[in-house]
Amino acid sequence: MSRPFALALHGGAGPIRNADQSREIANMGALLDQGRVMLSKGSAALDVVVAMINGLEEAGYYIAGKGAAPNRDGVFELDAAIMDGAARRAGAVCALSGFRSPIKAARAVMDQTPHVLLAGAGAVGFCAEAGLERVDEPENYYTPAALSSASTDALSHGTVGCVALDQSGALCAGTSTGGVLNKMPGRVGDSPLIGAGTWADERVAISCTGQGEYFIRAAAAADVSARMKYAGMSVDAAAAGALADMERQGGDGGLIAVDAKGRIALPFIAQGMRRAACDGAGNITIKVFR
Ligand code: ASP
Repeated sequence: MSRPFALALHGGAGPIRNADQSREIANMGALLDQGRVMLSKGSAALDVVVAMINGLEEAGYYIAGKGAAPNRDGVFELDAAIMDGAARRAGAVCALSGFRSPIKAARAVMDQTPHVLLAGAGAVGFCAEAGLERVDEPENYYTPAALSSASTDALSHGTVGCVALDQSGALCAGTSTGGVLNKMPGRVGDSPLIGAGTWADERVAISCTGQGEYFIRAAAAADVSARMKYAGMSVDAAAAGALADMERQGGDGGLIAVDAKGRIALPFIAQGMRRAACDGAGNITIKVFR
C-alpha cells in the first residue's frame, strides 16, 4: 500500500476588490492535479515543489516569475527559497535580475554550492555558470500581474509557494516572489529568508505570503515548527498561532503548512488567499475566499 502524501500551493493573500480569480483557480487546480499525480507515482517532494512553483512562476498571474512587478527604478528583482526538510538542506537567491526561474536558481544554490543564500553579482554569476535560463529582454518578458488590466483587482500580495509531503515521508517547502509593489531597489522580503517566509524540517513544511517585513520580524515560518516542537501543538494550532503573533505586530497575510502525517493548515489574515491543497486523506481544497 502506498504511504500518504500531501500537497498545498498558494498564490498570495491580501485584500480583494471584486476580483475575478477564475483563471488563477483554474491554473492552481491544474497544477494541483499534476503534483498529485507526481506524488502518487513516488516523486520526491523536492521535485514536486520545484515543478509546482515553476508552473506558478510561468503563469504570469502572480507577483512572481513572469508576473513579477519591477522595483521603484523599473528593475525586476526576484527572490526565492527552497528547503528540503528531510536533509535540512536549503537554497535561496535574493534581488536576482536576469533569470527566468528564481525557484530553479534557489535549487541550484542548494544542490551545487556549500551556501544557502546568494545575492548580487555573485548570484548572477553563479546562475549563468549553472546554465539557468536567462531573461534577456525584461521589458518584453515580464507581464506584471499586479499592473495588468486583467488583474487590477487582484490580491495585493502575489507571492507563490508550495509545500509537499512525499511517500518517503520527506517534507519540502518553497517560495518565489517579485516582492512587494513599489519596493526600494535592493529590498529583500521574507520569502528567500529561511525561517521567515520558508521553512521545512522533519516535522512540518511552511511557505508564507504577506508583507514580508512582518514575517521576518516574527520568524513566522520557523515559529510554526517551534510551536509544534516545544508546545506539542497540532499543525493547525501552530500555524494559526504563528500568524496571530505576526498580526499582533501589525502585519497581514497567510501561510500554507503540511505536517509529517499529511495534515494541512491554510490560515490567513486577509480577505482571501489563493490556495489549493490535497491532504493525506485525499481531501481537496481550491479556494480564494473563506
Ligand atoms: N512576502 C512577500 C514579500 O514581502 C510578498 C508577498 O507575499 O506577496 O516579499
